[in-house]
Amino acid sequence: MAEEKKKEEAKPKKKKGGPKAYKPRKFCPKCGPGVGLAEHKDRYSCGKCGYFEKK
Ligand SMILES: [Zn+2]
Repeated sequence: MAEEKKKEEAKPKKKKGGPKAYKPRKFCPKCGPGVGLAEHKDRYSCGKCGYFEKK
């Protein structure tokens, strides 16, 4: 009885792109491009420095 060659283990597929990072539309001009402004009903605001601007 011939031994069957063990099948190569399936490698986990690399997901293309990966999880999409949340990209805020606007960034805080005070804190820099790393800090996004939170979107509110009628304005954007920065949670770090308190900066906000009207929509
Ligand atoms: Zn800020």
